[in-house]
Amino acid sequence: MKVIEVAAGVYAIRHEELDLTTGLIVGEDSCLVVDTAGDHVQGSALAKAIREITSNPWQVVYTHAHFDHYYGTSAFMPCDVWAHQAFRFDADEQAKWVAKYREDGKPEIAEAIRDTALVAPTNTFDKTKELSVGRRTVVLQHFGPAHSFSDTVVHVPDARVVFAGDLVEEPGFIAESFGDGDVTQWPAALQALLALDPRVVVPGHGSPVDKDFVAAQREILIAGWTSPR
Ligand SMILES: [Zn+2]
Repeated sequence: MKVIEVAAGVYAIRHEELDLTTGLIVGEDSCLVVDTAGDHVQGSALAKAIREITSNPWQVVYTHAHFDHYYGTSAFMPCDVWAHQAFRFDADEQAKWVAKYREDGKPEIAEAIRDTALVAPTNTFDKTKELSVGRRTVVLQHFGPAHSFSDTVVHVPDARVVFAGDLVEEPGFIAESFGDGDVTQWPAALQALLALDPRVVVPGHGSPVDKDFVAAQREILIAGWTSPR
């Protein structure tokens, strides 16, 4: 796990598995965790890493309802867990990923996913929701279904940082990116994200990027999202 401070008190946390990127926003007396990684073991490791940065009480926000972004939440409970109102558990997903990881020769991760207790959101929002994170304002935004039906963008205006979830992936989109959202609306969601004028955009997978990178990904989506990268 590698921690990158992208702005004062704002962190991108890079994970080996799936090249996942989670986030942390630290306010004066609380903090907000953006996604919790893909199983309870990874979630515990993330919680421990965060405790080395801050001892502030935390809330969690889910960028979307795909396993790799929220299966680690049990390690953070009890706490408030935010998600878009379209967030749904996929009942078959857990067993599917257990089988997939076994097939891929990663039995430890398969077991960790099998033993993971999923945590439902405790709080949901529709289009936009302002959270107070220790005097720091963080805005949750939903720009319509794109990568998934519950895409949530986490905006930290004072730092000009945006956590994009899988609306942005670095170095590029993977085929699985196009499963259950609405790709026709994806470019518009990225347009709305760019309109926030971020200095740093933290993708759901890969290293932090800038506005130009996001604009280029938007062009790729417009030009023909079906072609593999
Ligand atoms: Zn993902």
